[in-house]
Amino acid sequence: MPADLIDGRAIAKTIRADVAERVKKLATQGIKPGLAVVLVGDDPASSVYVGAKGKATEEAGMYSLTICLEADTSQSELLECVDALNKDPRIHGILVQMPLPKQIDPDFIIRSIDPLKDVDGFHPINVGKMLVGERDGFIPCTPAGIQVLLKESGVKTPGKNCVIVGRSNIVGKPMAALMMQNNPDANCTVTVCHSQTTDLIEHTRSADILIVAAGRAGVVNGDMVKRGAVVIDVGTNRVKDEKAKSGARLEGDVDFDSVRKVASKITPVPGGVGPMTIAMLMVNTVRAAEMSVP
Ligand code: NAP
Repeated sequence: MPADLIDGRAIAKTIRADVAERVKKLATQGIKPGLAVVLVGDDPASSVYVGAKGKATEEAGMYSLTICLEADTSQSELLECVDALNKDPRIHGILVQMPLPKQIDPDFIIRSIDPLKDVDGFHPINVGKMLVGERDGFIPCTPAGIQVLLKESGVKTPGKNCVIVGRSNIVGKPMAALMMQNNPDANCTVTVCHSQTTDLIEHTRSADILIVAAGRAGVVNGDMVKRGAVVIDVGTNRVKDEKAKSGARLEGDVDFDSVRKVASKITPVPGGVGPMTIAMLMVNTVRAAEMSVP
């Protein structure tokens, strides 16, 4: 039997409805959560992501501020912008869209965001809190969303082998930190693979839960997956498709057709992890506003 689809859109919709309720509650206290998204340059994919984040923010009843800066913006100019947002009482969450142009050090900018407004969860203070299992920081949106997807799909994680392909600071590393925690939504035995892993298949075939975030279409196929595994495909790769209107289509890192034959559950691309990332950004923003209440 082919794997069940994990419907990220439906789960994200429920989460966003819950956020909208929390926003209404804050309104009774005179607070409107505000999210500022800063875009430097005109990378088309980044512009699309920033537009989607602004739209979701407004739909949840929150204040959305999008700041677009020129591609030749200097690091000190961006720093000034972040400083102003750190001080702005209308803004509870700040997100600087990555990647940044090469004259700007992303780590330096991430460290300049007030950790209490760091709704991306990339500031070392929030990363540290997540690693030691403290719940009062912000967790990066994509891994947080994947954990919710697993829970809402009824996947029991304790004692399971969770194999993650990819070790980026945005997905792979925080995902590993979350799944190894001592709590009922985690408690996995975690393996992290990367481009220097020898014999990737040996690891992927041991996974009860396989999370793939390599940024390479088809890096995992059906032969590499244990029968009955749960497969989460984080990848969003634009591949040429003459039949598509835009000349390209979105593909995950997983060869969907062959993996679906052996997995028990799988996320589609699009419609799996992507909608959860934005939903969790909304959760982090409303939480930042709730935390600002004296
Ligand atoms: P990244 O920073 O490029 O990291 C990719 C990771 O995969 C690296 O650790 C790399 O290893 C590893 N890798 C690459 N090729 C591999 C291979 N053949 N075998 C094993 N490991 C390999 O990417 P990212 O930011 O984590 O994103 C990964 C993918 O997820 C991208 O397609 C991105 O667009 C997508 N994404 C989607 C969402 C969403 O909301 N849907 C959110 C974030 C990211 P090394 O460290 O050794 O280089």
